[in-house]
Amino acid sequence: MPTIFGHAFAAATLGSSFPAKITSRKFWLLGMGCAILPDADVLAFSIGIPYNHILGHRGFSHSILFALITGLVVTFLFFRKDLTPKRAFAYVLFFTVCTASHGILDALTSGGLGIAFFFPWDNTRYFMPWRPIKVSPLEMDHFISEWGKRVIYSELFWIGGPGLIWIILSRGVKKWAARTMKKDA
Ligand SMILES: [Zn+2]
Repeated sequence: MPTIFGHAFAAATLGSSFPAKITSRKFWLLGMGCAILPDADVLAFSIGIPYNHILGHRGFSHSILFALITGLVVTFLFFRKDLTPKRAFAYVLFFTVCTASHGILDALTSGGLGIAFFFPWDNTRYFMPWRPIKVSPLEMDHFISEWGKRVIYSELFWIGGPGLIWIILSRGVKKWAARTMKKDA
């Protein structure tokens, strides 16, 4: 996996594309939580579930189905009071994509097993054809090392860089759209 910071930053990047009127503090925090959530499956190791089991690390919790379920559940639990169909769609989309971004970033890392994206239809573990992000250690004491330093540099470059470009571009597009709408009004 990338570190939790890499995953949380991916959620912040995705959130920047959504309209300001729906992006509350709750929206950002839950989005980041969704992007980190799939790694709760590391608990599987402590109860003896092997890595390559579908309930093991990078299995079901990293699938697209899990992302969609998370998107629906988070929207229902935290936003059901002020939902219009448009807002419901935006929230489900955001929390689903944040959760799915986790598996996509993991599939771009240099180590571990692949991701069971298509569970339950296909249990194959997939990687992307190109894997530039250095895999992050699972234990903290491994993290404070040369390995940890290389992980941080690789995330700054491969997640931080493209993310910042994305945030700047989506701000630009939003400003341009607001100006155009004002002119048309
Ligand atoms: Zn993961």
